[in-house]
Amino acid sequence: MKRIAWILAGVLTAMLILAHAPLSPGRERLPCADRDLRPGSFWLYCVLGRNYVQEGGVDVLRAAQRSVEDQHGVASITWLDASGPWTDGLWPHRSHSDGRQIDVALYYETAEGQPLMRPPTFSGYFAYEPPEPGEQTPCAGRRRPADFGDPAAGRSWRWDEARNGTLVRALIADDRVRRIFVEPHLANRLGLNGHPKVRFAGCAAARHDDHIHIDLH
Ligand SMILES: [Zn+2]
Repeated sequence: MKRIAWILAGVLTAMLILAHAPLSPGRERLPCADRDLRPGSFWLYCVLGRNYVQEGGVDVLRAAQRSVEDQHGVASITWLDASGPWTDGLWPHRSHSDGRQIDVALYYETAEGQPLMRPPTFSGYFAYEPPEPGEQTPCAGRRRPADFGDPAAGRSWRWDEARNGTLVRALIADDRVRRIFVEPHLANRLGLNGHPKVRFAGCAAARHDDHIHIDLH
C-alpha cells in the first residue's frame, strides 16, 4: 500500500512538473484534453511528457483532423509519441528528438464497417493491419523492433481505409509536412506507393501498419 502511494505521488509530481515546465523556444505540447486531438493514452504520452512538438505541429494535426471530419463525420486524431521536452532521443525510437516527428494512430472500424472512435489497444500502437496474401512484404522473414506479431484473422476490427486515405492525403497536401512513413502494402492500397512524400521506414524500423509517422519540415 505504501509503495502504491509513493508511485502515485511520483506520477502526480511528474505530471505537475511537465504541465508547468517552461517550454524550450520553438516547442509546444500536443493537447491532452481536446475533443479533436486525443492522446493514445493520457498516462503514456502526457504524464510521461512524450508530447512535445515543434511550434506549429499542433496546427498540422488540427488541419488534417478537420479534413477527415469534413468528409467522414466526427473523427478525432489519436496522437502517439512525438518528442520529449529536451532534444535527446525518445526511447525506443530511432528519430523523435527535435520535435519534428509525430506518430499518429491509424483509424479503425469494426468488421461490420462501423467506425471506431479510437484504436483498439491501450497505447494506440500495435493494432496492425497486416499484408494480405499477394501484398508487399519487403521485410518477410526479418524480425523487426517491437513487433508483437500479426493480429488474429478473426479479430473484431480492421483499419478504416477511407478515413486513413483522407488523413494521409491531407498530410501530403500540407506544405509543413516533409514526409510520412506508411507500410508499403497500406500505401499501395491507398494508391500512394511511390509518392515522393510517402516513404517506407525500412526493415530496421518498427512496423508502420498500426500508425503513421509524420516528419515536419
Ligand atoms: Zn515515429
